[in-house]
Amino acid sequence: MSPDSNLYDALIIGGGPAGSTAALVMARAGLRVRLLERTPFPRFHIGESLLPRNFALFRELGLLDVLEGVPKVDKYGAEFILGSGGEPSLFPFTMSLLGSETMSYNLERAPFDTRLLETARQAGAEIREGVAVRKILRLEDGNVEVATDEGNVAARFLVDASGQSTLLGKHLKIRSVLPHLKKIAYFGHFENVWRRPGVEGGYIVIVVCEEGWFWMIPLDETRTSIGLVMHEHVARKVGLPADQMLAWGISRCPEVRQRTAGANFPTETHVLADFSYRCAPYAGPGYFLAGDAATFIDPIFSTGVCMGMMSGAEAGRAIIAAVQRGEDLESLRRRYIRFVMGSSSTFFRLVEMYYDHSFRELFLNGQGPLQVHRAAMAILSGWVFPRPPFALRWRFALLSLFTRINRFVPLVPRRERFSLFAE
Ligand SMILES: Cc1cc2nc3c(=O)[nH]c(=O)nc-3n(C[C@H](O)[C@H](O)[C@H](O)COP(=O)(O)OP(=O)(O)OC[C@H]3O[C@@H](n4cnc5c(N)ncnc54)[C@H](O)[C@@H]3O)c2cc1C
Repeated sequence: MSPDSNLYDALIIGGGPAGSTAALVMARAGLRVRLLERTPFPRFHIGESLLPRNFALFRELGLLDVLEGVPKVDKYGAEFILGSGGEPSLFPFTMSLLGSETMSYNLERAPFDTRLLETARQAGAEIREGVAVRKILRLEDGNVEVATDEGNVAARFLVDASGQSTLLGKHLKIRSVLPHLKKIAYFGHFENVWRRPGVEGGYIVIVVCEEGWFWMIPLDETRTSIGLVMHEHVARKVGLPADQMLAWGISRCPEVRQRTAGANFPTETHVLADFSYRCAPYAGPGYFLAGDAATFIDPIFSTGVCMGMMSGAEAGRAIIAAVQRGEDLESLRRRYIRFVMGSSSTFFRLVEMYYDHSFRELFLNGQGPLQVHRAAMAILSGWVFPRPPFALRWRFALLSLFTRINRFVPLVPRRERFSLFAE
């Protein structure tokens, strides 16, 4: 504990997966940690499908019991299918070129986030819910102060895990949106949506269309989360009120329409701006950015919670090294920045490739020479921290090359494009 009882070793903004994991790791190491979360938990949150790398992290941190009692479904892979229907492409995680786990979960975030936050509290972190951080007052190594609903709080280091609020990113004016990945998401929880029999019924389903994509995520025995992610300019072209967009999309998409034919639609749907961005540098004097506060990646491949928890844990370890072992701050920061860059830039490249029809033709084909498809599956399983190993990098580069060639010379059978405006 710090000699000055008003000075915390670390102050964390936000109690989502990134903030809770950072708090847990540091509190377990004996640091004096304060976490402020502006919303009382449980609170609804989107981001319900996890990756195998995330499951491995639960094991590494001894967190498997956090998942007990949380509504969830075993997730053994992913299904991709065209909006017009036809043959699905099924990708079990066992296809991955590497990695120790071949499963993960789809789960309801409100109880999951609550249990994770509670675990950090039990580890010794001082947690206040319903208390927002309002302003950054001071930001230097060993000397940080913020204004909150309950007065000022001082700490040696700040972890911004405020999610898409990007509190510090906005304060430092370092948030840059990627203009070609400006999307809007419309989503809700449905009852009794059709599922495949057996383990494939637990797969996340991605329904592909020209204007964006749908997700279908089974959450428990009867509930399925369905969302439509559209390019911003297309959503504007449709021109309907936000609460009608999801139903409109489903009515225009034969595959989703068929799977929801016997389902109960939600009375309430949600809408969220879904703009990919980066707040670089991810660490600087007095601070570390974790999870969505550092970078938000288009959610097509369900990378957000994994990225959040992995970066939260890494930020926590860096602060432990600084406070307890007096390690050089510049090199800790450089290592942390490399960790976030190395992993997130791989996800970003894959997302950008997904929006290229040529890549989708190759990917949905499900096979490739030199195991390139298995390398893509390893990335989709989350084995990219702190950066993908060489065995993945060269295959990924080859896949990029194939994508460019396939635009002009067909390497796999051509796939039709499906548009929501087709009917
Ligand atoms: C449409 C959509 C679909 C997605 N689907 C998936 C998916 O299937 N799988 C997946 O892994 N990810 C998905 N994601 C991403 C995922 O939701 C996020 O990446 C993940 O929640 C990030 O965790 P976090 O802890 O960084 O932020 P959050 O979970 O957002 O937590 C941040 C917390 O900070 C609090 N906060 C904010 N400002 C303040 C303040 N000033 N003071 C105090 N507290 C504050 C907030 O209340 C919040 O609780 C999706 C995202 C979107 C938009």
